[in-house]
Amino acid sequence: MKFALVTGGSRGIGRAVCIRLSQMGYYILVNYKSNDAMARETLMDIKSGGGDAALMPFDVSSPDEVSNALAQWKKDHPGDYIEVLVNNAGIRRDALLVFMKTNEWSGVLETNLDSFFFLTREVLQDMLVNKYGRIINIVSLSGLKGLPGQVNYSAAKAGLIGATKALAQEVGKKKVTVNAVAPGYIRTDMTKELDEKVLKSTIPMNRFGKPEEVAEAVAFFASGGSSYITGEVLSVNGGLYT
Ligand code: NDP
Repeated sequence: MKFALVTGGSRGIGRAVCIRLSQMGYYILVNYKSNDAMARETLMDIKSGGGDAALMPFDVSSPDEVSNALAQWKKDHPGDYIEVLVNNAGIRRDALLVFMKTNEWSGVLETNLDSFFFLTREVLQDMLVNKYGRIINIVSLSGLKGLPGQVNYSAAKAGLIGATKALAQEVGKKKVTVNAVAPGYIRTDMTKELDEKVLKSTIPMNRFGKPEEVAEAVAFFASGGSSYITGEVLSVNGGLYT
């Protein structure tokens, strides 16, 4: 059995990624923070498509929760390893910097960036030993160009892009690739209060994207077909750059 761990798999982009990777034959470990009902829906979607999965709730911003969950999984699965890690869980806490509270800054950095470190260090060693692994980080257009009102989020995602490029160079020799997918506006809970009718005029493709369209890019990086691509950032944004 091949295992893929997707953080934030209960909803939105993470759910679409879980379903898509399951279609590639992966047994999916569906992480989420607290939304059991939505996570069970992801599980049902995977199973109704002929795949299999298990729920793995923990807070990605807590080093203890991450290491306890992964240690338990390893104990229960001797000889197995997580071949694909998708660092997808993320939050927004938008505010202009002059009004930004300390917890809005630290919460976004911890969930969107620190989590990469906590998760990746747990699964990387087994990937290196097995000389195969795929690490895919979900970043954002905000991390590439910066967005006003999102200094915290832009900093976290830009940091994650830097981490992607640096780690790719550390582990390339061991056939572990590290890439990032940078969505633009995607229709999920995270963007539900945004006015698509107004914003779509700024997007060359004239619409928000669908989670499944991001999942396709993740599937490419997760596949054997991307074996000579690492440290790359692939935008999925309908042509929206500046
Ligand atoms: P959603 O808000 O729809 O879903 C967020 C997911 O992350 C949920 O599964 C949630 O779990 C999980 N999550 C949040 N915090 C934690 C935590 N501390 N520990 C574990 N899981 C957590 O987000 P999207 O699907 O829209 O976004 C997914 C990723 O894509 C994020 O990294 C986001 O920054 C990025 N992105 C999204 C864009 C968009 O337009 N939607 C654009 C660019 C990037 P639970 O259900 O339990 O709360």
